[in-house]
Amino acid sequence: MAVLEEKQLVFECETGNYHTFCPISCVAWLYQKIEDSFFLVIGTKTCGYFLQNSMGVMIFAEPRYAMAELEEGDVSAQLNDYEELKRLCLQIKQDRNPSVIVWIGTCTTEIIKMDLEGMAPKLEMEIGIPIVVARANGLDYAFTQGEDTVLSAMAQRCPNKKIEQPKTIDSFGTHLFSKLSELELNLTGFRSKQEKKHPPLILFGSLPENIISQLSLELEHQGIDVSGWLPSKRYMDLPVITEGSYVCGVHPFLSRTATTLMRKRKCKLIGAPFPIGPDGTREWIERICQACEIQPSGLEEREAEIWQGLQDYLPLVSKKSVFFMGDNLLEISLARFLIRCGMIVQEVGIPYLDKRYQAAELDLLQRTCLQMNVPIPKIVEKPDNYNQIKRIQELEPDLVITGMAHANPLEALGINTKWSVEFTFSQIHGFTNAKDILELVTRPLRRKENFQSFGWKKMVK
Ligand code: SF4
Repeated sequence: MAVLEEKQLVFECETGNYHTFCPISCVAWLYQKIEDSFFLVIGTKTCGYFLQNSMGVMIFAEPRYAMAELEEGDVSAQLNDYEELKRLCLQIKQDRNPSVIVWIGTCTTEIIKMDLEGMAPKLEMEIGIPIVVARANGLDYAFTQGEDTVLSAMAQRCPNKKIEQPKTIDSFGTHLFSKLSELELNLTGFRSKQEKKHPPLILFGSLPENIISQLSLELEHQGIDVSGWLPSKRYMDLPVITEGSYVCGVHPFLSRTATTLMRKRKCKLIGAPFPIGPDGTREWIERICQACEIQPSGLEEREAEIWQGLQDYLPLVSKKSVFFMGDNLLEISLARFLIRCGMIVQEVGIPYLDKRYQAAELDLLQRTCLQMNVPIPKIVEKPDNYNQIKRIQELEPDLVITGMAHANPLEALGINTKWSVEFTFSQIHGFTNAKDILELVTRPLRRKENFQSFGWKKMVK
C-alpha cells in the first residue's frame, strides 16, 4: 500500500467532475425538521425525478414538499410566472396551511433568470404567508449546501426581539397561554438564578430533536445557556437574534449561513471544530466555553469515557486506510475522527472548502495527524472522480467512502466501500453518537472479512 508522506496540509483543486446529490435534496430533511413549513421546488421534471428517486419510501408519506414544474410556456415567458406561483401557493395554503412556504430555486430558474426574490415579498403580502427564497441549485452548490442556502435565507427572517403572544383568542387558548406564560416565568426565574453571564448563544444547523437536547445539555452542564437553534422545530419559533449574539455552527457545510449571521445580523461567530466524534465534540464545547469566558470542567473525563466505550470498534479500524471521494462536505470532520481512531486517510475529496469557516477543523485535523503520527491527507477540492478512481487503484485503500454511482463498481473490483450519504442521514453528532459513525465505517470491513471466509475476493476479472 502506498502512503502519502505529508507533514503539512496540502490543498488541491481538480475539475469538479464528481458525483453528488443535487442540493434540492435538502427539502427531504428540512420539511421534517421544520414542522410547519412547506417546500416548493420550482424546477423541471429532472428535479422532480431526482427528488422522487432519492427520497425513496418517504415520497409515499405525503411529504410537505411539491414541485412547481416549469413548462414550455414558462421558459419562453409566455405565461405569467407571478400568477402561476400565486395559484400554486394559494392551493398550498388551502390544503396544508403552512406557516412558511420555502421556494427552492433550481438550475432552470437561474438560467431563465426568474426573479424569485422579487416576486416573493409581493406574493407574501397578497397571500399572508411568509415566503422564503433559497437558490439551492445544482449549478452553484453540492448536496448539503442546500441546507446552507435555506438557513442563510431564514437567518434574515429571525426576529430581533421577542414577539408578544396574542391575547384575545378563545377561552381554552387563553387558559393555555396563561399556563404557558406561568411556566415561562418559572423558567426565566430558574435561569436568572443561574446568573447568565454570557451574551445570547444561537446554534445553527439542522439536527434531530434528541441530538439538539443532548448538545444543549452538554453545554448546560458547563453553565452555558443556548438561547435558540436555527432552524427551530417550527418556523414560528425562529430564534431571536440580536446584534452581538454569539453563533456557532454544528455542520461543516454552513459557511453561507455563518457569513449571513456575521454580516447581516452582526453576530459573533465562534470558530470551532464540529461536534462529530468525541474529540470534535469536546473541542466544540471548549471553544464555546472559551468565547463565553467559562472554565470548562469534566470534559477530559467525559471524552475518555466515550473512547472507552469505543474500544470494541477500534481494533477493526486501526491502521486501515480510507479514501474519501467527497460529496457531502462532512469529509474533513469524519477524516479527523477516523484518524484519531487509528485509521490512515489517503485523500479527502470535498466539493467545496471554506478555509475560514473550517479553520478550527483543519487545525484539529493537522494536530490529530501529528499526535497519531500519520501522514496528513491531501485535501482535494472539486475532485475529479475519473482521476480519483485511478488513484484508488494505485493506493488500494481498505475502504472508500463514496456515492452510490461508484460503490457497486468498486465493490465488484474488490474494493471495500461505504455509501457516503448515510453519514448525512445518520445521527453522528455529539459524544454519544460516535459509536454510530464507527458502526457505519466498520460494517463493510466486517462484511469483507465474512466474504473472504468464503474465498470471494473480486467479482469481476
Ligand atoms: S441539478 Fe439542477 S436540474 Fe438537476 S435536479 Fe438539481 S436543480 Fe434540478
